[in-house]
Amino acid sequence: MVTATALVLKAANSNFQVERVELKRLQPEEVLVELRATGVCHTDISVQQGKIEAVFPVVLGHEGAGIVREVGANVDNVQVGDHVLLSYSYCNQCRHCQRGKTYQCVKMAERNFAACRPDGSSPMEWRGASLRGCFFGQSSFSSVALVQATSCVKVDKDMPLASLAPLGCGVQTGAGAVYNVLRPVDAGMQSVVIFGIGGVGSAAIMAAKVISEDHAGILTTIIAVDLSEKRLELAKQLGATHVINPSTTESVVEAIHRVTDPDGLEGAIDCTGVVAVINDMIVALGPGGRAVTIGAPPASAKMSIQVFPFINGCKSYEGSNAGNSNSSEFLPFLVELFRQGRLPIEMLQRQYKPTEVNEAVAAMLEGKVVKPVILWPEEQIQLVGN
Ligand SMILES: [Zn+2]
Ligand SMILES: [Zn+2]
Repeated sequence: MVTATALVLKAANSNFQVERVELKRLQPEEVLVELRATGVCHTDISVQQGKIEAVFPVVLGHEGAGIVREVGANVDNVQVGDHVLLSYSYCNQCRHCQRGKTYQCVKMAERNFAACRPDGSSPMEWRGASLRGCFFGQSSFSSVALVQATSCVKVDKDMPLASLAPLGCGVQTGAGAVYNVLRPVDAGMQSVVIFGIGGVGSAAIMAAKVISEDHAGILTTIIAVDLSEKRLELAKQLGATHVINPSTTESVVEAIHRVTDPDGLEGAIDCTGVVAVINDMIVALGPGGRAVTIGAPPASAKMSIQVFPFINGCKSYEGSNAGNSNSSEFLPFLVELFRQGRLPIEMLQRQYKPTEVNEAVAAMLEGKVVKPVILWPEEQIQLVGN
């Protein structure tokens, strides 16, 4: 029996509690991972706040990074001793997974949000009762976790796991929206606007900057929109060429058009999930412009668009999951950018102990920290009995 220190959430709108939990026997498709660090993402907080439905008690966490200690009989993508980043889980069997579009897996919702294994069982116990886990295939708010093999992406052992933990969700989603969805080089795209400069929006700006450096004439205009002057300052440091604060301008659309000219906006990414912002984003697009939605609004949210300008201007509006990233390919690419010093994600981070998790969440919600990262103490794992 393996035990672990985990952040247990007993109910919606409660605090995380640091508890000793027990992991069940490893299944054939699972990997036992000793976590070194886990980023806190807004999706974790949305579950905590009851905005995303869940069954409790549960262990969340979906930006894990750690070391493989044991692998199930059917696991062939990682080995004992490998260092891994943890990302979303997918079935690897449906037609989308077979085509390499794992981010479109038909089992995406149940694999990542059901907080149970694919067979419906729970991977953990707490105080003798079942504890929900396998959130995003990992439930990495735990010093040790049973992780779905598809969530594991191997990373070189010389790379700092604590810095890289947020790659698996937030960074991949933001950078992927630029690289994999907008594909600005293929499109010859010169301008992009990014709404909401949190962890995801910051990653989108970093990616846009890298592309602009690598390709002359591409993404020469990178506009950041946020209500916080502090975040806009960060956006400038990361590579934004222009910033707009909606609280100091009457019309965000007009402010964007003053930069790009009224017909000039080619790419747009919303990381806020606010329907009014999404509407502004679409109205701001010029002919041939493409808008991408990443930020999650409440489940019941609906938007409306005026159809004619879409036809006349050949515009498009696309949803994107995990930045349309095949994590086993895209995460190593991002790690390489980090190695080259071109993905300064450490600028966004502050590290916390597990016992400080509730302070970390509060700091994130107050806008004081873009990306809190929980560091896990090393465990003495006893594998006897598994
Ligand atoms: Zn996330
Ligand atoms: Zn699938």
